[in-house]
Order: sequence, then structure tokens, then C-alpha cells
Amino acid sequence: MNLYELTLHEARDLLDKKEISSRELTRSVLDRIEAVDGQVGAYLTVAADSALAQADAADRAIAEGGISPLTGIPLAIKDVLCTRGLRTTCASRILENFIPPYDAAVITKLKAADAVLVGKTNMDEFAMGSSNEHSGFHITRNPWDFSRIPGGSSGGSAAAVSADMCIAALGSDTGGSIRQPASHCGVAGLKPTYGRVSRYGLVAFASSLDQIGPLAKDVADCAVLMNAIAGYDAKDSTSVPVEAPDYTAALRDGLKGIRIGLPREYFETEGVDPEVKAAVRSGIDTIQSLGAEIMDVSLPRSEQVVAVYYLIAPSEASSNLARYDGVKYGYRDKEQTTLMEMYRSTRSRGFGSEVQRRIILGTYALSAGYYDAYYGKASQVRTLIMQDFKKAFESCDAILAPVAPSPAFKIGEKTDDPLTMYLSDIFTLSANLAGIPGMSVPCGFSREGLPIGLQILGSHFQEETLLRVAYNFEQATDFHTRKPAL
Ligand code: GLN
Repeated sequence: MNLYELTLHEARDLLDKKEISSRELTRSVLDRIEAVDGQVGAYLTVAADSALAQADAADRAIAEGGISPLTGIPLAIKDVLCTRGLRTTCASRILENFIPPYDAAVITKLKAADAVLVGKTNMDEFAMGSSNEHSGFHITRNPWDFSRIPGGSSGGSAAAVSADMCIAALGSDTGGSIRQPASHCGVAGLKPTYGRVSRYGLVAFASSLDQIGPLAKDVADCAVLMNAIAGYDAKDSTSVPVEAPDYTAALRDGLKGIRIGLPREYFETEGVDPEVKAAVRSGIDTIQSLGAEIMDVSLPRSEQVVAVYYLIAPSEASSNLARYDGVKYGYRDKEQTTLMEMYRSTRSRGFGSEVQRRIILGTYALSAGYYDAYYGKASQVRTLIMQDFKKAFESCDAILAPVAPSPAFKIGEKTDDPLTMYLSDIFTLSANLAGIPGMSVPCGFSREGLPIGLQILGSHFQEETLLRVAYNFEQATDFHTRKPAL
């Protein structure tokens, strides 16, 4: 077995026993990137020198007995997280040469744990998209089929995990951007409860929806990463002062007696690929066979979710992205002679078309005269969506659902039709609107050999329940062990 193929917990074992060094492991991952990333395109920046220096520091720490669960583990970071001294672009031309003077809170935590940061991964520009086709630099290909998208917006992180170009990764999820690429690339991904992980240093897309979370080769690795990144942070005003548990402890319990809800509306949704339906159905059967009690629940506002999200997220984005004006940081069109022309030209040239579309949509929805009809109304329906989940979780502990209506689609298939692209987010958006945690685990493959994910949703701060369901499911199946032929 090649070292780059190891899971995080397998690598931990070998590092602790001193059978391998972090330098060997990091070298192996860097060689793998060298060998396959030309075809996949998962990375925007590979920080080989600093990664090897961090690996050496980790090896010294291990020799001195100062081991944390992440010491010496090579990780990939979505390029939406600020890394001090290391280019952070958000896959946007407007931040092409931006070198942050500070680390995001989660990066500070990873560095304190002696993890190795291999590089920054590709994404849809400012995390707006479901396919990585909206990156301002290059597309990322799905490692299972190069003619297909890896999902988005954390498509680079998901592809890097799936193609063994890192041991595990971080992504961000505003409306599905961890769960959907995890599903399309056949890896595990967890979006935590809103407020569980500090957003300090996460470049903002839609602040009331954004969360950072892990993408990993298996569920146990997600739990290890959650232990490293979860917890209160005074620098994020929406961080919740609730003690983070030991997430790996959640993996010990079985599923006897756990109550699983199936939202009627999700299973009646039209246009869901029959192979997705079949894989999710057999996932539910497996979970039932492990002792779970299955019941019907209702999420009556499911039909409104796409409309509500695509008003709230662009509204917040239009406000958050006002800061890229060519004055403070990032790209500036220096050829213009007046301030207004400089603003206009900088933003027209610096932002890609999807980002511009969202800024226009959001500005319109927030404008005087339309605010009540669009943003205001969407916020009211959002409250009803939250209440639907609250009610559902009175009778069940977790909800099972598809992640995406189809396996990974073809590159170019939906780029001309933003609405069709938006509709593919139908099953993931509600978790962000409600602020609840969600997870994706591999539950099958299509006839064409494309991975399919099973989504598990839980009530606020119930990540442990998700991990428990996901882990038991994983132990009973072998989908997570399969690898793309690269
Ligand atoms: N696909 C959704 C969007 O384009 C969600 C993106 C995300 O979670 N960052 O807004």
C-alpha cells in the first residue's frame, strides 16, 4: 500500500509506532499530487516546501513525545480559509494575489496541533456553485470520471481526498458545499451546526449560512477533525459557547433503538435519478437492519427551500462582497481615471459571471421597495423551515435523505442554465437555512461507477448522532473502501 492511501487514523497509528515519519508521508502525498493533479486539478496552490518543514517539525514533536491526533498529518485546505503568508484566492481573480496577514481560527488550531498543510484547494469562486466550474482559474475533474464535475463548491477538497492527494481536508458548506462534493467523489463529509466551528478567517459568502467542516476518507476521520476544529471562539460573534464533546466517543454506540425519520416530501420529489433512489433506499434498509426504527416525518416547506436560499444567500453575498472594491486589497484596475470607473471596472473584471449574477440578484432583493417582498418574505419562510425541522426532531433522532438528485453530472451540462444548477441543491440547502448539522457518506455506485451519497441530518449540536449513524453504516458496508482508478 502507498502511504498516500492511508486514512487519518491509519496514518496516526503508523506515525505513533514510528513505522513511518511525517516527512515520508508528506513526501508520498506531494508525489501523488505531482503524478495525478495535472489531470484532476484539485489544487490551486501546493505549498510543498512549507509542508515538508511542518512535517519535520512534526517528526521532532513525535520524537519528543508531544503527539496530538493531527501531528504530522498532511491536510488540504479549501482556498476560502485564510492562511497567513500563503496565497488565499477563493478561486477569484479579484483575490488572485492576496496573501493574508493572519490565519483563520481553524488554521490556528490545525497548526497548534502540528498538522501539515499541503496546499489550498480549488472551489467555485467565493463558494458560489455546485460544480467547481465557476472557479476563476481552472475546473476540477471528478477522479471517478474526468468528463464529470466533482461537485462544489468544495470540489477541490473532495477530489483531493478521493484521489489520495491528501489524508483529509477542510471545506465549507453554505448550502451543501461539503456534502454534495463528498457524495459525488465517494468520501465522507460533515457540515457542523451553525456556530459550532469558528468562522473567523473564513472568507464570507453568506454569513448566516456558512460553516467549516471536514471531508475525509471515512467517518472516524471526520470525528478526529471535528475534535480539532470545533469549539467556542470569541472572535466569531455567532460562535456558540457550548463545550465541544469528544466526537470519536460517538463511534462506540450501536444503532439499537435510534429513531430515523424519512421526510415524505423528499421521497416524493420529482426528477430524482432512479439509481440515487435505489442506493438511498438500500442505505435506509441497512440502517434499519442495524436496529434503527424507521418512521415517516414531514418537512412541509421543502418545496420553498430553493427559492428561499437563492434570495437569502445572494442578499448576504451582495453585502459581504461589497468590500472588494479595488481599494482595500486584491485586484485593482489601475487604468481607470475616476473612482467610480475604477470600482466598476475592478469588479467587472475581477468577479466571474456567477458571482456578478448573485451580487445583482442580492442587491435587487435588498433594495428599498423590494426588501419586504423578497428578502423579508424569504426570512419569514426560513423561520418556518426551521420550525418544520424542530417538529420533525421531536419524533426522531436523525433524518435520512439523498444528498443530490443525481450522481455527478457532465462538465458543461448545466453551466448555461443557472436555474437547473440551483435546483440540484434541493436536498442540501435546508440544513443551512435551519442551522442544523448534516453529513454525507458513500452508500452506493451508479451503473457507470459513479459514487452516490446518503445524507444524514440531525438536530442542533447533534453531530454525535450523525457520526454514530454514519459510522455504523460504514462498518456494515464497503463503499468507502473503493477508490477511483487513477
Ligand atoms: N450550491 C450552493 C450555491 O451555489 C451552495 C454553495 C455552498 O454551499 N457554498 O450557493
